[in-house]
Amino acid sequence: MAQVTRTENGYLCRRDGSLMYVVYESEKTMDNKLRVSIAYKCPVCGFRVETETLEMTRGRDSYTLTRTVRRLPA
Ligand SMILES: [Zn+2]
Repeated sequence: MAQVTRTENGYLCRRDGSLMYVVYESEKTMDNKLRVSIAYKCPVCGFRVETETLEMTRGRDSYTLTRTVRRLPA
């Protein structure tokens, strides 16, 4: 089910139709991964849809990067 509506100006909030903006967030998870997420956020109600997440895990001599991309309506 689509959580946002795509228009030529960008994505609109499903709840109130406001134009959403892009936010980048990064955090360290409990299991010591670095997690970066890219999301659309509504400035009015705070509704948030993650569109992409990157998780970086540190190994002994390497890093593993997991990228998850969520499909949003085109
Ligand atoms: Zn909203």
